[in-house]
Amino acid sequence: MRRSFLILGILSLVIIGGLVLTKHMVSKEIALAKLKSDFVSNVSHELRTPLALIRLYAETLELGRITTVDKRQQYYRIIRKESERLTALINNILDFSRIEAGRKEYEFRKTDIAELVRNTLDSYRYQIEQQGFALEESIGTNLPALELDREAIARALVNLINNALKYSDNEKFLGVKLFRENGVVKLEVEDHGIGIGRNDQSKIFEKFYRAGDPLVHNTKGSGLGLSLVQHITQAHGGDIAVESTPGKGSKFILSLPVTLPADSVQAA
Ligand code: ADP
Repeated sequence: MRRSFLILGILSLVIIGGLVLTKHMVSKEIALAKLKSDFVSNVSHELRTPLALIRLYAETLELGRITTVDKRQQYYRIIRKESERLTALINNILDFSRIEAGRKEYEFRKTDIAELVRNTLDSYRYQIEQQGFALEESIGTNLPALELDREAIARALVNLINNALKYSDNEKFLGVKLFRENGVVKLEVEDHGIGIGRNDQSKIFEKFYRAGDPLVHNTKGSGLGLSLVQHITQAHGGDIAVESTPGKGSKFILSLPVTLPADSVQAA
């Protein structure tokens, strides 16, 4: 009798354990399915807006109604900016699908990271200032050459800059800092925007994840940017961290290990 009860008890425990595990897995799948469906609607929305603007401005130009040169230039600029936005989004999605399929390859070349950061900032400076942001840049000198995939690191920086611009409301500040600290080169992107709650800080690097803040909800996004930044950084043997206070702002810190150039190793 006692043995039968014992066996019954063990069986009940196994069944309960199985049920708990199944519930856990099903809710994880449901959460992922919801994230995916949000992603599809976010991305469709993100694709539709720039396309509609490009069409509108191109049609207006085509009709020849714009007589002043300044106005025409402004329309051309909007078309260029919106196409760049589309390209960035599509590049993110393509990169993401390559990563998911395990086909993403990086081309590491010895790179002057200070020049790379300066060039990337130069192509965004106009947009940053146009949106009313104060840009503070501090790029260290005498940084060692790093083995980097130029395009990937530039994309990571662009994603961080775009986020800083998107998630700032009252105080429009963007700080970009590049410096060496012991064995790593650090690239920091700081804003004085809405900030990120403690609970969200560990989740924002997951694919599709977007925080629940109303400003985030009303801002276009796919939830892929930071997961790409993390993948790119880790592929370089580095790390990404965030420091943030809700309502005060955020700082993303990308650390890349210094690999000594072969000739200096030889010299040593
Ligand atoms: P997306 O911006 O397309 O939503 P990301 O992966 O780039 O996707 O970011 C994920 C989430 O992290 C954002 O939805 C937002 O909630 C939060 N986030 C990222 N960067 C910032 C920032 N600089 N300030 C506040 N929140 C941010």
